Amino acid sequence: MKASNIREHLRKFTRLPHLAGTKQNLVYAEQIREEWLSFGLDSVELVPYDVLLSYPNKSQPNYISIVDQLGNEVFNTSLAEPVPDGYEGVADIIPPYSAFSPKGQPEGELVYVNYGRTEDFVQLKREMGINVTGKIVIVRYGKIFRGNKVKNAMLAGAKGIIMFSDPADYSAVGVQPYPDGWNLPGGGAQRGNVLNLNGAGDPLTPGYPAKEYTYRSNLEDGVGLPKIPVHPIGYHDAMHLLKNMGGRLPPNNWKGALNVSYSIGPGFTDTFRTQKVRMNIHTNNQVTRIYNVIGRIRGAQEPGWRPRRTIIFASWDAEEFGLLGSTEWAEDNAKLLQERAVAYINADSAIEGVCVCLCACVWLVFRYMHTHIASPEEGEEGVSLYDSWHKRDNWTSDRDAPRISKLGSGSDFEAYFIRLGIAAGRARYTKDRKTERYSSYPVYHSVYETFELVERFYDPTFRRLQAVAQVRGGLIFRLADSQLLPLDANEYAGSLRRYVLSIAERAEKHPEEMKMYRVTFDALFSAEENFTIAARDFHVRLQNLNRVRMVNDQLMYLERAFIDPLGLPGRPFYRHLIFAPSSHNKYAGESFPGIYDALFDIESSANQQQAWQEVKRQISIAAFTVHAAAMTLTQPA
Ligand code: GLU
Ligand code: CA
Repeated sequence: MKASNIREHLRKFTRLPHLAGTKQNLVYAEQIREEWLSFGLDSVELVPYDVLLSYPNKSQPNYISIVDQLGNEVFNTSLAEPVPDGYEGVADIIPPYSAFSPKGQPEGELVYVNYGRTEDFVQLKREMGINVTGKIVIVRYGKIFRGNKVKNAMLAGAKGIIMFSDPADYSAVGVQPYPDGWNLPGGGAQRGNVLNLNGAGDPLTPGYPAKEYTYRSNLEDGVGLPKIPVHPIGYHDAMHLLKNMGGRLPPNNWKGALNVSYSIGPGFTDTFRTQKVRMNIHTNNQVTRIYNVIGRIRGAQEPGWRPRRTIIFASWDAEEFGLLGSTEWAEDNAKLLQERAVAYINADSAIEGVCVCLCACVWLVFRYMHTHIASPEEGEEGVSLYDSWHKRDNWTSDRDAPRISKLGSGSDFEAYFIRLGIAAGRARYTKDRKTERYSSYPVYHSVYETFELVERFYDPTFRRLQAVAQVRGGLIFRLADSQLLPLDANEYAGSLRRYVLSIAERAEKHPEEMKMYRVTFDALFSAEENFTIAARDFHVRLQNLNRVRMVNDQLMYLERAFIDPLGLPGRPFYRHLIFAPSSHNKYAGESFPGIYDALFDIESSANQQQAWQEVKRQISIAAFTVHAAAMTLTQPA
């Protein structure tokens, strides 16, 4: 692999905007097909689907106004971001918008709700006694997936939601705004979809691939579409909306870095009491054709190198619109994949930090291969990537190894891992885990996310990107070519043990209810012990092994064993019993999500008896599933 090749590829595919569903994106898809063929793949094809996308109306721009009592617009937010140098002539730069916002022009008082997280809305209601019914909520970006913010605002009764990037979250201290540094300028705003799909893929064709002949539900019945207008703004515009807000002062941790009070509202201070905020949203939903690029290297033993197993390369379309291309292809190929797929390795943004840390979220054995990859960091000549990673991000408390975190979601592995139960992994360069986990990087999804951003600030030598490519490629190579699959059930057992302990601890916070409703984790602990023993015995058996295919099948199907065909409560496409995207943040992974959700805020449940019955039911489902998974590791009779 050459850093210079990576540079060229990045240069080439970042020259022009290529939003999903546009002509330019098809041109790039065709280019990828030609390149992959020239690289020597056995076959490459474009695979189309017709999915619901969302675009701003070109002749009626989206914006937010402050209106006086006569209805005059006394302030309007900007219609576009100032375009960075070198991109002035570029046509079709889409202005910041929240994809899949419904149309609407709600008008009302603002209420500031911090990050718009579950806990923020709980605090607003229970501690501050503020009701947002009929109000427009304004929240800062960060911490969680934006779709969860929108869902929270909807459930709280708001009639619109504005999301802004606060410098506290999108400007690092001592760093200049782009182009002089990698901070978000005040005129920049974060685009992105605001769906709550829970793994459904295309909102109109849940469960089935969005082909030409496929039945489509009505828009009103579409999965995960928000019901209130949504719009993103930068901090220059946010200043104007926030500066005159009245009502009570916020708790300290609700204060961002703008020179305003962050008063919560509702509405403006006395002098401006009569002013209201109006959102003007004209975005259109539209069924549009997208194109995945699917390439194959067939596995076989032949002259010339071929992997043992087939490798499929996929360039997914419409990731930004809710993981649509990847999910539709998963639906299209579910039968084959669940019988034959060994693993899925994701490749999304490879670098999101200037601090050096490798984040890898996977139970596949992952660690060995990094010892062959060199650290790309200056001053670390002769140091392996593994040691560099380990030094920066130790697993802490219970083991001396670099940390591998849980897979959450918000990228294309979701359908493969959480719906189909295929072992999955991802790797990237990230920022210091200790500082912030999910807010991404400052210029994320803004017009300032350019080739030059990478070349000037994140990876001038392109060697970090090279290291990430080596990790991903190395993983694929080992998965495709090792005689024995490089999967370790003992690792899974170790993780399961930690997850059981942690969820049981959570429940133990309610000792009286546990007693009263006879809730016990015994069955789950026992299942987990069975699993640990089965995993150990299994790997002992591997030592003196002659039937590789049999044990490889057991390894391949172990992840599948955690799939519950009925899915998690209310989330039929999240079927993995051990991992799911958090119900409060799609980006984060939750272990034993069924039990976790049943326990969540259980003390405020109106019907305690019923709530604890649900906890018991979830524990029993988890115990059964872990036990059943353990059984798949035993020697076939
Ligand atoms: N990666 C995109 C985002 O974070 C899409 C995520 C999703 O829809 O799950 O905005
Ligand atoms: Ca579908």
